[in-house]
Amino acid sequence: MRIYLSRPHMSGHEEARVAEAFASNFVAPLGPQLDAFETAVADYLGGGLHCVGLSSGSAALHLALRIAGVGPGDEVWISSMTFAGGIFPVNYLGATPRFFDLDPASWTMDTAILADELERAATENRLPKAIVPTDLYGQSVDLDRLESLASRYGVRLIVDSAESLGASYAGRRKAGTGGDAAILSFNGNKIITTSGGGMLVTRHKDWADEARFLATQARDPAPHYEHSTHGYNYRLSNICAAIGLGQMQVLDDRVARRRAIFARYQAALSRPGIAFMPEPEGMHSTRWLTALTIEPDVTGVTRDDIRLKLLEHRIEARPLWKPMHLQPLYAGAPYHGTGVDERLFANGLCLPSGSDMTEDQQDEVIGHVLNLLEGHHAVRHTAQ
Ligand SMILES: *Cc1c(COP(=O)(O)O)cnc(C)c1O
Repeated sequence: MRIYLSRPHMSGHEEARVAEAFASNFVAPLGPQLDAFETAVADYLGGGLHCVGLSSGSAALHLALRIAGVGPGDEVWISSMTFAGGIFPVNYLGATPRFFDLDPASWTMDTAILADELERAATENRLPKAIVPTDLYGQSVDLDRLESLASRYGVRLIVDSAESLGASYAGRRKAGTGGDAAILSFNGNKIITTSGGGMLVTRHKDWADEARFLATQARDPAPHYEHSTHGYNYRLSNICAAIGLGQMQVLDDRVARRRAIFARYQAALSRPGIAFMPEPEGMHSTRWLTALTIEPDVTGVTRDDIRLKLLEHRIEARPLWKPMHLQPLYAGAPYHGTGVDERLFANGLCLPSGSDMTEDQQDEVIGHVLNLLEGHHAVRHTAQ
């Protein structure tokens, strides 16, 4: 590939931080850089939250669900359109997912459908243990509504904010501050990266303490190794945290750049039959990936025509996340919705959106897409 969907984008601040970690010999999953990275993210998010650096976003979700008490026989209610790492931890714990559709106005979990199902489940005494909505492509879920539903029914709320660090909700809250806990990812393709890594963000101090305990093999206080439950080796490396410290210095620039890339695509490619992911009033998405849909009946071009044309030029584009209720793994799992997510998946495409993309690279992507769209119109015109 010459142009990737989303590449790691170093700022130049990272290597000095990594050198500091080496100088202190904290080449381990603990150390001053890890502490400082947790503090930097907590300070950025504000509001007295506790942050625990972990080896991945999926590890963070696994711990959050376990601390929420999720186990065999429990249900977890989850956005169907998400990435595998945002659902597999439900399986690790032997729980069962129930999938929810998106609201077409925001492409995040449809809270009206959720509210109806919570009401029904409450009367039938089968409420879920936790709800896990996804901040899709960097757009915050409806935090006020979800938090009020979760507290009304006594259900835990864990927000998958893996794609939304740097986004905000209703102009007054940052993404990653929601629910009982939120999870962040610092995988190589995310807004900022630690090469691989994640974080649990929680307002509950006891959840943060429990996460640190479980992430370091659940060692009870004793001079020898004493265990009364099983844990995991999930702490973030101090070296990786040092990379994260450098990346935190440029987080807002990275989000601004992704938003500018989205705006440029939108200005160049908007036309009947092409719709960009909406951003409701007051929302400030990271626009992690520029996501759009192409109606073949209107444009004469399919999502795959565009994807394959770009691939010919070694440019990476990808369909939107395939909804989990359509995956072989989850065949037959309960799903509530009207197929908004299915239609987005059928016609949806993510364009290259890395914050290190140059304008020339972006113009190249736009040029290929316009050639296809306009070439098609020319043919149709001649035929008439
Ligand atoms: C990236 C991602 C995750 C998982 O994060 P990892 O750090 O890759 O484990 C979870 N959910 C969503 C929506 C993601 O995009």
